[in-house]
Amino acid sequence: MYKREETKPVFVGGVQIGGQKSVVIQSMTTADTRDVEKTLAEIQRLHDVGCQIVRLAVINEDAARAIKKIKERSPLPLVADIHFDHKLALIALESGIDKIRINPGNIGSKEKTKRVVEACRERNVPIRIGVNSGSVEKRLLEKYGYPSPEAIVESAMDHVEILEDLNYDNIVISLKSSDVPTMIQTYSLMAQKRNYPLHVGVTEAGTQFSGSIKSAVGIGTVLSMGIGDTIRVSLTADPVEEIKVAKQILRSLDIVNNDPVVIACPSCGRCAIDLIGLATKVEDAISTLKVPLKVAVMGCAVNGPGEAREADVGVAGGNGEGLIFRNGEIVRKVKETELFEELMKEINEMVGEQKPT
Ligand code: SF4
Repeated sequence: MYKREETKPVFVGGVQIGGQKSVVIQSMTTADTRDVEKTLAEIQRLHDVGCQIVRLAVINEDAARAIKKIKERSPLPLVADIHFDHKLALIALESGIDKIRINPGNIGSKEKTKRVVEACRERNVPIRIGVNSGSVEKRLLEKYGYPSPEAIVESAMDHVEILEDLNYDNIVISLKSSDVPTMIQTYSLMAQKRNYPLHVGVTEAGTQFSGSIKSAVGIGTVLSMGIGDTIRVSLTADPVEEIKVAKQILRSLDIVNNDPVVIACPSCGRCAIDLIGLATKVEDAISTLKVPLKVAVMGCAVNGPGEAREADVGVAGGNGEGLIFRNGEIVRKVKETELFEELMKEINEMVGEQKPT
């Protein structure tokens, strides 16, 4: 039984992470943050497919200042991704950033760290400590021999303790590794140390195909242990794909059930319609809907009608034709060339009925 570990609630703009709320999906823009229009266009696309928080790379002062303009029109809360430079953190905070990703142990002096923490405290802005296998300190690599789960957790704890010494607990932690078993063990170890919300991901997961699978296995396993409050699927692909994969992971574990889902058979020698084409087209057409809806796309009359009846809307293919189902009943028989349009007609009608008035 899937049971989530209790974590401390943290607020990123209006979005709650932790405290038993549902798992939040996030991504990162690929545009240069100084290009306000391009960044906003990317944020809008991410928002439209279901992203809830977006991170921006802040590489210099111009990028930190651009946050002000992006923030004015962004439909999503923003996270500034900053490495080392406390000045960038302070400018990002003045620009209205909702969360900062920075490792306090890398800021430099205690004084600089204090200034960042105080500016975050004033604005109730959380700090995400982000450690990954590639950023583990030399000292810990020598102690553990390689970026082991223990080394990654110890590195993260060093940063956590810096913030705790400053009496700051508005914290989110990520501990990523590109190695799935390491990442799973690392999150499991960290969950035993503190109850700060955990940002879960497999770092440098890879291209769309391999990265999606690695992420699904890694993130899915961690979530199924009841660990994790926000997820980011990292793909070498359009970030919109990251959101689609993240949503599918959450749906597969029944963590969210407010999105449509397509059930499709793998097709076999009994199938007499272009099932792969139809299922792909349907999945694409309903990917931006925000209603719980089960759509079955089945290839034949053997197993097809059973699944199609179980779904809200469904189709079971026949010889150059197909049966359309709605709420378990056959509503009509149509030609193969009309299957997509007829199925979409039913879906759109159902969506209309489900929308709040
Ligand atoms: Fe084959 Fe029919 Fe099963 Fe699809 S539903 S896999 S076509 S038997």
